Amino acid sequence: MPVKYELIHCKSILNRLKRPDDWFLCSYTLNPYRGCQHACQYCYVQSEKYLPFSNIEEFSKTIQVKVNAPQVLKKELSKLRDKAIVAVGSATDPYQPVEQEYRITRKVLDVLNDRNFPCHILTKSDLVLRDVDILSEISKKSWCVVSFTITTLDANLVKMLEPRAPSPERRLQAIKKLSDVGIVAGVTFMPIIPYLCDTNENLEKVVKGSAASGAKYVIAGGMTLRDNQKIRFVNLLKTNFPKLIKKYEKLYGDKISPDRAYETKIEQKVADFCKKYRVRDRVPKYIPSSRKIQTKIDYQYQ
Ligand code: SF4
Repeated sequence: MPVKYELIHCKSILNRLKRPDDWFLCSYTLNPYRGCQHACQYCYVQSEKYLPFSNIEEFSKTIQVKVNAPQVLKKELSKLRDKAIVAVGSATDPYQPVEQEYRITRKVLDVLNDRNFPCHILTKSDLVLRDVDILSEISKKSWCVVSFTITTLDANLVKMLEPRAPSPERRLQAIKKLSDVGIVAGVTFMPIIPYLCDTNENLEKVVKGSAASGAKYVIAGGMTLRDNQKIRFVNLLKTNFPKLIKKYEKLYGDKISPDRAYETKIEQKVADFCKKYRVRDRVPKYIPSSRKIQTKIDYQYQ
């Protein structure tokens, strides 16, 4: 599918959260691009609340490149007093194919590194390995973690759900390579898609595979279904799993999230598999005073 790149100038780049995020530990988010070529069928950014385009179809066909992001970031960081964690890639994949050409993510990381800001990178792409040099420096100076989203290792489901993202196997290999050079990497097991990715077999396979690749954590999360995003996902179900429609209606009712009891049960199962394979179910905390990452497995903390 042809993809159009549009070069744009952004007025601001850092988004300050109302309070630090409990899961990703960040106080700021930053997105070098608008739109995402990976075209995941469950992507929450396609809902009206987050969609950067007027038309959902544009989300994976038009990628806006924030060409002045590094310069804007420099200015914005110079006004901040606290060196809080910046999440890179909360509403787009910062290492989608366009990054090979424009390298905005790399330039942004350079700025964060120069200013000693810790960062949490969220991606599905092993292109992140290109920037190991900068990530190593940030790790040594402050704190850097790289989270790879993995929802399943089933090749048929992956093809259907994440048609243009690098394979989960490549993501696991990237975790291994980052871990081997001392960069903390882990897995965001999100979203755990009801009735497709929530079997005990899939939960265990993802946690086991992550641990075996050197992931330091696996954090689990459910799937929201809002407006556009819901329409797209329900269409996928209608075409491929029509028998699941009724089950989804029962599980979600008129809410955007599954029934809470269901979510708690799934989170507990993932936590149990994390214990079994000795991997955390939370991102290791940043402790600025000692500038060390908590890497020891500590189930009390969990
Ligand atoms: S990689 Fe992330 S941002 Fe990109 S389409 Fe998939 S879920 Fe959405």
